[in-house]
Amino acid sequence: MSLAVTNAAFDGQLVGLRVEDGAIAELGSSVEPEPGDEVIDATGLLLAPPMVNGHTHAAMTLFRGFGDDMALMEWLEQKIWPAEAKLRPDDVYWGTRLACLEMIRSGTTKFLDMYWHGAEVARAVVDSGVRAVVSSVMIDQLDPAKGEAARPEMLEALERIAEAGVGITPSLGPHAIYTVSPESLFWIAETAAEREIPVQIHLSETEQEVTECIEAHGKRPAAYLDELGFLGPRTVLAHGVWLDEDELGLVAERGATVVTNPAANMKLAVGGFLPYPQAARAGVALGLGTDGVSSNSNLDMFEEVKFLALVQKHSSGDPATLPAEDAIAIARGLRSEVVRGTPLEPGQPADFLLLANAPELSLGDLAAGVGYAASGAVVDTTVVNGRALMRGGRVEGEDEILGRALERARRLGLA
Ligand SMILES: [Zn+2]
Repeated sequence: MSLAVTNAAFDGQLVGLRVEDGAIAELGSSVEPEPGDEVIDATGLLLAPPMVNGHTHAAMTLFRGFGDDMALMEWLEQKIWPAEAKLRPDDVYWGTRLACLEMIRSGTTKFLDMYWHGAEVARAVVDSGVRAVVSSVMIDQLDPAKGEAARPEMLEALERIAEAGVGITPSLGPHAIYTVSPESLFWIAETAAEREIPVQIHLSETEQEVTECIEAHGKRPAAYLDELGFLGPRTVLAHGVWLDEDELGLVAERGATVVTNPAANMKLAVGGFLPYPQAARAGVALGLGTDGVSSNSNLDMFEEVKFLALVQKHSSGDPATLPAEDAIAIARGLRSEVVRGTPLEPGQPADFLLLANAPELSLGDLAAGVGYAASGAVVDTTVVNGRALMRGGRVEGEDEILGRALERARRLGLA
């Protein structure tokens, strides 16, 4: 199957782009469609690389608007955990379909996920046509026996995720150092290394986590994980709000990635953000995520780019911190091997966007427009693996997805 895009604005000129077998075959001002190509006339549209959501819990779209404005523990104990206890595989499937729909509409073609029923997440991703690094969340409540008993199930989930189909990278997802025992973390790190797969964990989201880690283990969270052999080039650390300079140096040395989630950090009032200037100086690989809808409340990576740049400027007291181009590169997954976005170049996977010539993008510097002015609503067309999942703002099957997700939310008593 081949696809051609004509008359798209890119890098200050009008270009054509051709896709063959899911990859970009040609890109340039003289590229024309060939016989048999499906053709998208992009007159008036801007060609752009897509976003990669580096940390989320996709199916939590079902919990949107459920228990906002509450303190973290109160919200988890009174709202989220009782509702999650009722989750069935089908709920996770339709919640993830709803998340994928929102992501396709707002220009995200790949995400890193950690949630219950990972195999259902993977199935929803494949059916939606996008890409994801999928992990089933693992919690043993610091009980090594419980962790050991869960291993066969974890391995089975990993197999089912891996078999889901095109676009899926299987991964392991221990929830955090305060919910998973060191024995389980060690085993997970070993298993991930053997299989050469990514591993995702929340780290240093709150100051309390750091204090408790020092009390229990005599060291800060990154050093604790490193001692367990957990930090490597396929490790993804979500948040990293309270990482200090030594920890950032260690994370950089091991090649692990930190995914920052500024909107969720603000909404849950965790008291800070990943210290970007120090992380950049240390050479830490970086990604950007929305976190789950419950703590954001959307999956719009354009909006997240603005939050990222603004909170870093604000907290450093320097407006030159994190220019728009750098913030966008992080959001496109171009600053981390494991998050791994797709630049617009021949030979790369054919994942790209066509942006409308909306008021927010009609004048001035394009990076500033994308980084500070636009929301995901400027996305007109989303292509993944050479297949147009959205054209002219319409996604095939969206009404069914909205209806089925609402049914599932009602069943859970959420809507
Ligand atoms: Zn999270």
